[in-house]
Amino acid sequence: MGARPQSTDNKLYDLLGVSRNCTDAELKKAYRKLAKENHPDKHPGNEEKFKEVSFAYEVLSDPEKRQTYDHYGLDALKEGGSDGALYPKNKKVVLLPPTDFLTPSPHFVHFDQLDLSSSFFQRVSLEDLYNGKTSKLQLKKNVICASCKGRGGKAGATQTCRTCHGRGVKVTIRQLGPGMVQQMQSHCTDCDGEGECINDRDKCKNCNGKKVVEESKILEVHVEPGMKEGQKIPFRGEGDQQPGLEPGDIIIVLVEKEHETFKRNGSNLVLKKTIGLTEALCGFQFTLKHLDDRELLVTNPPGNIIHPGSLKVVEGEGMPMAKNPLSKGDLIIQFDVKFPEKYFKPEEELMQLESILPPRETVKIGEDAESIHLEEFSRGSSNAYDEDDEHQGGAQHVQCAHQ
Ligand SMILES: [Zn+2]
Ligand SMILES: [Zn+2]
Repeated sequence: MGARPQSTDNKLYDLLGVSRNCTDAELKKAYRKLAKENHPDKHPGNEEKFKEVSFAYEVLSDPEKRQTYDHYGLDALKEGGSDGALYPKNKKVVLLPPTDFLTPSPHFVHFDQLDLSSSFFQRVSLEDLYNGKTSKLQLKKNVICASCKGRGGKAGATQTCRTCHGRGVKVTIRQLGPGMVQQMQSHCTDCDGEGECINDRDKCKNCNGKKVVEESKILEVHVEPGMKEGQKIPFRGEGDQQPGLEPGDIIIVLVEKEHETFKRNGSNLVLKKTIGLTEALCGFQFTLKHLDDRELLVTNPPGNIIHPGSLKVVEGEGMPMAKNPLSKGDLIIQFDVKFPEKYFKPEEELMQLESILPPRETVKIGEDAESIHLEEFSRGSSNAYDEDDEHQGGAQHVQCAHQ
């Protein structure tokens, strides 16, 4: 263990009143109790506490998130956020009534439901990642209506939705059988999940009561040399806007397109090259178009033998390093050697070839040596080489062979 970092951040455990090494069951029990005690439907004014408790449970009940939290603390869980708030600011919690917690799970808390950030996956070629590239991304986003300043209508025109009591969701309980109930949650259609309604005549003409209007926006995406697959380019606050919430972020996630010649391995490039036996023994030259269109001439002198599967390195011809694009990784060439076809020359000519190849090893043959014949091996036809049968198969095969 030793080297694993441990965060001193104990806040989430303290919130639930459990110890750092508590079990899942203890966690669940503590959460149920606190969620009931602080549910805003029963105890107005406890919203903050309820959100915090729910957030703590959401993190600690997820083994992966719990591990991250244990090692690196809360900041590691809040990407890019260090505003000191315990839960991400632009995420809103949907509060549900404290039914008997039929399914006590993080599904009660929908942190992502109103997260206004959006991710876009952009496929970029290896050439773009090598050379860098700026491209334009056009997107449509919601911005707060300027006419009504995001109110949706005249001041005071909004009313809490009577159907869902402002929750935006309806919860129905369905009896599945004796002692079995299913809790179902659906979007409130009367207020379209908003939790509040505005009379048609009071609605803002500009946004039709929606509080936001759609706007076109062009973002310039700079792909820097050396950027990697999965790397994120964030545009803070460029996402959708909604009254009462922080604007979301636009996050461009780079997806590397497969290249027909090169494969990337960190800052190195890997090239597979098949050469003939003649080239492997007697030297070769070949040209290669690099990602910036340069033509490279690769030369290997006669006698510098290339073995099948061997690796050679061209230093400094790999990908640019992200921190310093002027320094580059290496180009690694993985060779395969294609041997000539079967019986490619008559026997006499093969003897000539042998005369210049290294001498054979001498072989001692005992008097009783049995002469056997080599067949082509193919996995499908031979049952004598079945890895799955390793433990018991051996003896059976011997028996079969003797029948
Ligand atoms: Zn408006
Ligand atoms: Zn409603």
